[in-house]
Amino acid sequence: MSQDARVTDNPESKRTRIKQLEVMVAEVIRETHDVMTLLLFTGNDRLDYKPGHFCTIDPKQFESLSRWAAYLEKVKGKKEAPRAYSLASAPHEKYLAITVKEERYVEGATPYPPLLSPVLAMRTPPGTRMVITGFTGPYCMPDDIEDRTDHVVHICAGSGVVPNWSIIKHALATNMKLRHTLIYGNRTWRDVIYRYALDDLRDQYPDRLQIVHALSREGGADHHGPHVVSGRVTTELIQRYVPDPSAVEVFACGPAQSKFEKRRAKETGETLAPRFMETVLDSLDELSFPQDRVHHESYG
Ligand SMILES: Cc1cc2nc3c(=O)[nH]c(=O)nc-3n(C[C@H](O)[C@H](O)[C@H](O)COP(=O)(O)OP(=O)(O)OC[C@H]3O[C@@H](n4cnc5c(N)ncnc54)[C@H](O)[C@@H]3O)c2cc1C
Repeated sequence: MSQDARVTDNPESKRTRIKQLEVMVAEVIRETHDVMTLLLFTGNDRLDYKPGHFCTIDPKQFESLSRWAAYLEKVKGKKEAPRAYSLASAPHEKYLAITVKEERYVEGATPYPPLLSPVLAMRTPPGTRMVITGFTGPYCMPDDIEDRTDHVVHICAGSGVVPNWSIIKHALATNMKLRHTLIYGNRTWRDVIYRYALDDLRDQYPDRLQIVHALSREGGADHHGPHVVSGRVTTELIQRYVPDPSAVEVFACGPAQSKFEKRRAKETGETLAPRFMETVLDSLDELSFPQDRVHHESYG
């Protein structure tokens, strides 16, 4: 791909530094049964992004999806917008990367089949070219983070770990004066993204990275060691690992009630069950974590 064709400034780019970038999938890494990481070759330019930023990908650019997208637009009565994907890579790494979970159609629960994630996760081989737009997002560490704290707490579930993985890797690789506690919720070991890479990073930085796995459907998970618990991420679990809420900075990411679910609940008058993010924010509130030290991002 030629340098000129690869990077196209959009009209806003001078102000926002948002660019369109043509990338090529260099490698596909299977993380779990339904999650893949795509390593993206971008040429040799240094990319201007922060850990925690995301890019967007327009599903309509893929030949295999364009007619399907047109059909969904007709049925939904609205345009299919680009989807956001957090960067799984960190700025010090060679390749840009995204980690995508395949969303599924569940009869009675999801009104439409998911459009882009099944293709990115399951049908995007090395060599595939695509245009991504980025990089942006507020879910980044403040520039003065080392003055604010020496302990960053990451509370994540499922693919919500992706931006935090970038933040943790980068902070450790660049020797920031921070230690990290990652409290990571999943159903089973099978669902844990970056499972062995997380172990490797903790082994490399044993004094600066602590990982706590909360596995809601893994009976006897507690036998796997002191920092593995059976069950969800609860108020008690957070309190156990973060006894002094006033001294830390929190980054929480994971599924939340979607705007579609909220709209439907409003119309029907039904009460929507809290999802991971609602529960975690309630817990942090209950434990009196200062609101200006809690950063959160949700994928719902
Ligand atoms: C900031 C941010 C970062 C993200 N990072 C990641 C990441 O790193 N990895 C990752 O896997 N995902 C990430 N996501 C989620 C991602 O953007 C997509 O939402 C996800 O991949 C699903 O896209 P899809 O096209 O497959 O599904 P969609 O086609 O968007 O469908 C998803 C769900 O919404 C329902 N739905 C869609 N349209 C309607 C409608 N009009 N009315 C009612 N229901 C509807 C569908 O039935 C389905 O249940 C991120 C999201 C955000 C906002």
